[in-house]
Amino acid sequence: MIPYGRQDISEEDIAAVLEVLHSRNLTQGPAIPGFEEAVAEAAGAPHAVALANATAGLHLACLALDLGPGDRLWTVPNSFLASANCGRYCGAEVDFVDIHPRTFDMDPLALAAKLERARDRAELPSIVVPVHFGGRPCPLKKIAELGQEFGFKILEDASHAIGAKFKGDSAVGCCAHSSASVFSFHPVKLVTSGEGGVVTTQDPELAAKIRLLREHGVSRDSVTAKREGAWYYEQSLLGFNYRLTDLQAALGRSQMTRLESFVSQRNQLADRYRRELADLPLVLPLPTESGRSADHLFVVRVPKKAGVTRRELFDALRERGIGVHVHYIPIHLQPYYRSLGFSPGDFPQAEAYYREALSIPLFHGMSEAEQDRVIGALSELLG
Ligand SMILES: *Cc1c(COP(=O)(O)O)cnc(C)c1O
Repeated sequence: MIPYGRQDISEEDIAAVLEVLHSRNLTQGPAIPGFEEAVAEAAGAPHAVALANATAGLHLACLALDLGPGDRLWTVPNSFLASANCGRYCGAEVDFVDIHPRTFDMDPLALAAKLERARDRAELPSIVVPVHFGGRPCPLKKIAELGQEFGFKILEDASHAIGAKFKGDSAVGCCAHSSASVFSFHPVKLVTSGEGGVVTTQDPELAAKIRLLREHGVSRDSVTAKREGAWYYEQSLLGFNYRLTDLQAALGRSQMTRLESFVSQRNQLADRYRRELADLPLVLPLPTESGRSADHLFVVRVPKKAGVTRRELFDALRERGIGVHVHYIPIHLQPYYRSLGFSPGDFPQAEAYYREALSIPLFHGMSEAEQDRVIGALSELLG
């Protein structure tokens, strides 16, 4: 089976993890700041905090941005559950903004219209979570202009987008137009640490608060500690244990040295798909005209004119050993979110997209022969 995504572990990656195993620190050691620095540098942000996973990163970023009961968080239905759940963890109300039918990420026009309606009812969000879907930079500047006008903070879900660039070449994660960005290092993402997440920000206080929340809300460097003794620690907030281990951080740091090569391989594979699939009755993802996509996913839409349904194409490809997938079932259609009052029809673009979406295999290390098999199977089934 050719999977839709696959990690790429080198001998250097293995050596980096072994080094930690032979060292004194399996956790809370020097590999963590090393990994954080590598991500901060790639993202062009001054601060980075590594956490157990991106879900923990979204949760703590929301808490550190003071999201709580009575507040509202808006995201897109076309994302992984965690983009919305982070708001619920904080006791906030979650709502969604429909997507753009060609870029599959937050539609700034839909956002603007929804904000106007929310202002009339005094129900404006305090945090908006746009998603750089598939690694393609979302229209963050437009969203940030609305943030200025309507007074919400922006938390970027950049789980798909390490190595992506905005128009003008600044990296996704630099946070020029947001409070913070969150990257995921789960094995299906571009760079992996096994499990892992990193929050980047330009705000030193926000970074410090996320660090504190990561470690039980406990600090050890207070003035009192000097007076009381070296054992002393102090809990100032209700925090969590959301730490990453050094084993994971060493893997992540080692993988980060190959980020450029991972992304450029993906860019080439995506370009080749666009050329080779151009004549098939599929709606191909738009190329990124300015900036650079990290090409985490390659999602095609299977329109009516294709003559087969998405389900039929999905099953036929899987039968041929092509590991296609679907990203994403609209979050608001999950039973949990339905129980909160959402229903089919609420976000028509995301729902129409979901009926047609198909992620075809794309990963760094994918060979031309593997890609030819995918292209061949699609041509045979649709030609
Ligand atoms: C993978 C993913 C997450 C969650 O990442 P974890 O590291 O698995 O917690 C959140 N949002 C999006 C868009 C993702 O793809």
